[in-house]
Amino acid sequence: MFKKAWLVARAVGSIGSFIGYLVSRSVWLRMRRIRHHLSSSASSNHIEHEQRNIVVIGTSMAGYHAAKTIAESLLPGSPYRVVVIEAHDHFHFTWVLPRFCVIEGHEHKAFIPYGPYLRHIPESALRWVQGRAVRITKDSVHLSSGEEVPYEFLVVATGAGASDALPSRVDSDDKSEGITKLKNIQTRIKEAKNLVVVGGGAAGVELATDAKSQYPEKTVVLVHSRDSVMHRFGPELQKAATEGLKDLGVEVITGDRLIGEDKERGVVTLKSGEEVECDFLVNCAGQKPNSTLIRELSPISITATGHIRAKPTMQIDDGSLPNVYVCGDVAETSTPNPNSRSARAQAAVASDNVILAIDGCKPANKYKPNWLEALIKLTLGLDRSVTHIGDFSGTELLFPAKEKDLALMSGGAWKHMGASPFQDDTETLQRFFTKA
Ligand SMILES: Cc1cc2nc3c(=O)[nH]c(=O)nc-3n(C[C@H](O)[C@H](O)[C@H](O)COP(=O)(O)OP(=O)(O)OC[C@H]3O[C@@H](n4cnc5c(N)ncnc54)[C@H](O)[C@@H]3O)c2cc1C
Repeated sequence: MFKKAWLVARAVGSIGSFIGYLVSRSVWLRMRRIRHHLSSSASSNHIEHEQRNIVVIGTSMAGYHAAKTIAESLLPGSPYRVVVIEAHDHFHFTWVLPRFCVIEGHEHKAFIPYGPYLRHIPESALRWVQGRAVRITKDSVHLSSGEEVPYEFLVVATGAGASDALPSRVDSDDKSEGITKLKNIQTRIKEAKNLVVVGGGAAGVELATDAKSQYPEKTVVLVHSRDSVMHRFGPELQKAATEGLKDLGVEVITGDRLIGEDKERGVVTLKSGEEVECDFLVNCAGQKPNSTLIRELSPISITATGHIRAKPTMQIDDGSLPNVYVCGDVAETSTPNPNSRSARAQAAVASDNVILAIDGCKPANKYKPNWLEALIKLTLGLDRSVTHIGDFSGTELLFPAKEKDLALMSGGAWKHMGASPFQDDTETLQRFFTKA
């Protein structure tokens, strides 16, 4: 009891210090503008600068925030501009993907238009390139279109991919193709009598409970290689998730792994030798960081898991590349449960350090994982959820809740991105589609 009260007190303290950080950051940026204004009115000379690029590759939870933060900090007349390189034509809202693999009619809500989040940024501060980066050198990024974009600073926010894409990622750059993929998986789940879900992390637990809640007549089996589902979190959340699965009638097999699928016989085989009837298999395991671009440029920065080693300043851990930053799921920090909050916090550190560097100062901001970032809201069927916070030393708090919104938090996410739910505004981004 005392430990839980202490956790709440520390959560309040952390929120207080976050507000303090926001205030001091705002003062810093304001002072910077005032200093710039005073120095430019003292000197009447207009200096022509050569354009210098701060390139951001990948604009999801980490990179979109980094691109916006840096672009809105550029001072009038700055020689710098942000150049975004993003493969997708819309922002993919991952949180709702397991739900929209099961529930029909909401797929479009997972694709938030890029642009409205950048509404207050002047055209001169940002260029948007929809395309794929295929190679990085010490001073430029090469795109699949053949274009070469030189950079002075680079922020790599290429995130992670999943071997079987959905329900963890949508492996399509085009929104309408992404919607079709979601609809296809909905149909496969609807038509299956025996559904097997592999992976007992959040995506697997959510998809299995949603499927069983929507189709109680189906057999749903969740297979997880560890001793408990949600093993990256504390025992109280593991217990709540296991109970949520069992209450709905999902069969949970832990400590075993899938080694084969026989589609003709309609079975999957587990390492233990057990065979499980299966006419549709959903793989929610196997996310991999998208680090190939940096692997070629700086092999020493890549960890055994394929992540990019980052310094606390979010510069990549390679002394020869001080102008290359990394943030989000692709970065190796000591965050135990990388998620959108940690991605955004790292993006904020990387962005402020880039701003310092373009002002000629040393990158001084440091990312330190905060246990509050690991907060998770886990759905356990269509009408229930449990929110979990836990510190890194094992104290946990659970908040069970009833849920009414089938589309989960998608409306809020659209608003957060400056977009009106669910109007597909593709116009706002157009002004950033400038030529090189
Ligand atoms: C199913 C699911 C549910 C989740 N739910 C939650 C949740 O409820 N709360 C939470 O906080 N977190 C949640 N997460 C975690 C969260 O989605 C990730 O931590 C977050 O998306 C990481 O953001 P990112 O910017 O690092 O990378 P990603 O989201 O992986 O995005 C990477 C971006 O880079 C682009 N890109 C990659 N390579 C290239 C290239 N070569 N050229 C151009 N562009 C490129 C991609 O197109 C993409 O837009 C969930 C994750 C999943 C899979």
